Amino acid sequence: MVNIYCNSDRCEYDIRALVMAFFPYTAPDYHISEENYIKNHAEACSNENTDIYIFMHERSICIECKDVKKEYIFEDIPDTKKYRDELKRLLYKVLEEVTGRALMWGTLTGVRPAKLAVKRILSGYSDEQVKDYMKKEFFCSDEKAELCTEVASKEAEILKKIGFYKGYSVYIGIPFCPTVCTYCSFSSMPVAGMSNADELIARYIEALGKECEYIKKKFYGQKLTSIYVGGGTPTVLNEKYLKRLMDIINSNFDVKSAEEFTVEAGRPDTINEEKLAILKSAGVTRISVNPQTMNDNTLLLIGRKHTAEQTVYAYNLARKAGFDNINMDIIAGLGTENTDDFSYTLERVSELEPDSFTVHSLVVKRASEYRRIREADGIKKYSGQTVSQMLNMAMEYAGKNGYKPYYMYRQKNKAGLSESPVLENVGYAKEGKESIYNIVIMEERQTVAAIGAGAQSKLVKPYDPYSDEVTGVIRNSNVKNVYEYIDRIDEMIERKERWTYGQSVN
Ligand code: SF4
Repeated sequence: MVNIYCNSDRCEYDIRALVMAFFPYTAPDYHISEENYIKNHAEACSNENTDIYIFMHERSICIECKDVKKEYIFEDIPDTKKYRDELKRLLYKVLEEVTGRALMWGTLTGVRPAKLAVKRILSGYSDEQVKDYMKKEFFCSDEKAELCTEVASKEAEILKKIGFYKGYSVYIGIPFCPTVCTYCSFSSMPVAGMSNADELIARYIEALGKECEYIKKKFYGQKLTSIYVGGGTPTVLNEKYLKRLMDIINSNFDVKSAEEFTVEAGRPDTINEEKLAILKSAGVTRISVNPQTMNDNTLLLIGRKHTAEQTVYAYNLARKAGFDNINMDIIAGLGTENTDDFSYTLERVSELEPDSFTVHSLVVKRASEYRRIREADGIKKYSGQTVSQMLNMAMEYAGKNGYKPYYMYRQKNKAGLSESPVLENVGYAKEGKESIYNIVIMEERQTVAAIGAGAQSKLVKPYDPYSDEVTGVIRNSNVKNVYEYIDRIDEMIERKERWTYGQSVN
């Protein structure tokens, strides 16, 4: 059990996140109370617990845990950011000493570690300076500082090339899948066995059409950088509805002038020649065919309902249809897989030579079917080391085969959520095959108009694109439930009407 006793609610989120990074499978108890109470309480606490005491004052911070005590005194009254950064560094040093372990990502607990590095690079810092900054400011390991800088450098190069601050991107969500994978953390609806699937999809696509029309008007005259149709599994739509969706997109957006038009064809069992031809003639430039693993036993365990051979077949079909930019997603830490199984997946994927591939670390919701099955079977949690080894294997494979890391993100570390404390996802691509949308959405440097149930739009405030200033992002969310989205489409559009440089609309 981990207890945090603090005399203030300041920086609670950051403190919790860092403590959970050191103790990945616990949800710490947070007690906010006056100093005297804390001291009295401290004496009464059992030694079996890890009790962390944090005393925050205007110009000083003191942290105690077990027999380690550290203090920081500011010369002047610090601003919020400086205070938070020093607090995290101090807490990190205390916990590093108490646990005897260092964290690869140091004090960084956020989802987008490369964002900090991109800012520096766009402001003119060299790669060496950025690496140094990541290590000194956040205590990142050499390995992670190197990875982060390499990713940031590629992202900055692409962002500059596309003139990111002038354009906008569009995301369209298709929240349907053939069946639900047992580890799924999205709110996707399985169409298999759904009696009203046809009617529901038809109504959903018409609602999407209304929202597309509105976005077209709202962004009239602005350059469209990229379109991304994700999900769910967009290719679960039958040929008639896939064609209708592509027609809607083409009639509302200038697809030809966009730098990229991606459609996730994630589940190989949803792909056929006719659908690929529809996508191709609609101007789709990039698709994803996602194996997740090339081991059939694991596919069965995770409820994917397709085989590795089906992945190979779908991939070859896509090549035959003329797609010259195909991504493949794989997951490290699935099922009972060990490093040999993961190596087998990498080998099979390498035979196909995709243009890019993304490696995810498995994150499993507490309530997921996957976790229930695993726990019932008594399958133990993976050590972070196994997943870490897998991620290193993928990086090595990428390097040997001409891929470079170009975007990355970390999963939010919620207690009990992850099977691994490593929690990072990295996209690798061959030169010129990077997904622009992936970079735009990660870096939050361009407005993304998101259409569909559960879609979250981000309006990026105008700012000096190359400055080091924090950018302002105004969010706008659509309702998640598909039925509600359809019924309340006019309200979703009205929300977008109010989506300006004012306040977030949810
Ligand atoms: S394909 Fe993706 S979105 Fe669909 S159920 Fe599987 S994990 Fe979830």
